[in-house]
Amino acid sequence: ANAIFSGLPTTVFEEMSGLARTLGAINLGQGFPDDPGPEAVRAKAADAVLNGYNQYPPMAGLPELRQAVAAHYDGAQDLDLDWASEVTITSGATEALAASFLALIEPGDEVVVFQPFYDAYLPLIRRAGGVPRLVRLEPPHWRFTRAMLEAAFTPRTRLIVLNNPMNPTGVVLPDEDLALLAEFCVAHDAVAVCDEVWEQVVFSGAQHRPLIAFPAMRERTVKIGSAGKMFGLTGWKVGYLCAAPGLTHSLARAHQFLTFTTPPNLQTAVAWGLANAGDWFRDMPRALEASRDRLAEGLRREGFTVLPSQGTYFLSIDLTASGIAEADRAFCLRAVKEAGVAAIPVSAFYETDPVTSIVRLCFSKADATLDEGVRRLARAR
Ligand code: PMP
Ligand code: GLN
Repeated sequence: ANAIFSGLPTTVFEEMSGLARTLGAINLGQGFPDDPGPEAVRAKAADAVLNGYNQYPPMAGLPELRQAVAAHYDGAQDLDLDWASEVTITSGATEALAASFLALIEPGDEVVVFQPFYDAYLPLIRRAGGVPRLVRLEPPHWRFTRAMLEAAFTPRTRLIVLNNPMNPTGVVLPDEDLALLAEFCVAHDAVAVCDEVWEQVVFSGAQHRPLIAFPAMRERTVKIGSAGKMFGLTGWKVGYLCAAPGLTHSLARAHQFLTFTTPPNLQTAVAWGLANAGDWFRDMPRALEASRDRLAEGLRREGFTVLPSQGTYFLSIDLTASGIAEADRAFCLRAVKEAGVAAIPVSAFYETDPVTSIVRLCFSKADATLDEGVRRLARAR
């Protein structure tokens, strides 16, 4: 077994969800909604399974979905994507990430990654031969500076990976930070792999801006999205890659040997959902914002210090600031075993010098679940 993978623990999401399942705990760990998702989109998938085509779709994805993705971004972000040469459908954002790293990294290339990172990045980058250069962010603001980027970028930098809006921190980057990143990418001739799966889940006061829209980034950005997040159907694993034709050509070569394709019925349903979204992309984040506020207020009433969240399904509590001396992982293990509530220790998303006082909680849940979660967390104090 290769050391890069065999040395890894089970991903923290499966570890904590496994404990929640075994112990019958409320799961505020892994990020998924507890409602079934938009019925019309699910009905479309069911109809496509029963009455549609169930053989291999085209390798790059169904044209109707690629067109719907391009049209969605034309309307939502004023991006002018050519669906035929710039959009590739993948089996989730996870496959899009793997395809990006396989296609764009040569052994020895350096890849700038912010930590806390989404946990799939480093193992995939390393297995592709990349050498991660980590930029360490800290609570409560998780901001990076020019000096931090200067320390991370070198003449060997080939890629940067940006997750915006950022999981697990809930940060949505302001324009000035994105402009700074763009400046470094251009100066180092680096490609930006932008994991923007959370772009539709952004709350009042924040605005998501895609890095691909910044000057000179159009030709050097791979933009990744996921229907799982767009429609709250996280098990569907329908994602996509948007990039200029030259990049898309390389990405498609990797995609063809990873999964080749993605279930056609789910692609049909996502295409329909994008074309018939109506007020969904306005109402969905509003409902989640109310859930965020409900969980945050409940936690504050119980004496927890809650960090701001501008987007994603997540908010964080700061244990130290809440007067809890325990480290995040110990707290989470105790909370799931003794109080019956699962959460995610943010130290799992660091490789070096982890911040150990932050616990991530998922608020895409029914009010009653959030209220009971607060009661149980209060018992774990
Ligand atoms: N990137 C980030 C930042 C995520 O939060 C997730 C899912 N939680 C993914 C990628 C994976 O998306 P998918 O399920 O579409 O593979
Ligand atoms: N993206 C989800 C989260 O952050 C979980 C993904 C997974 O389970 N691998 O909670």
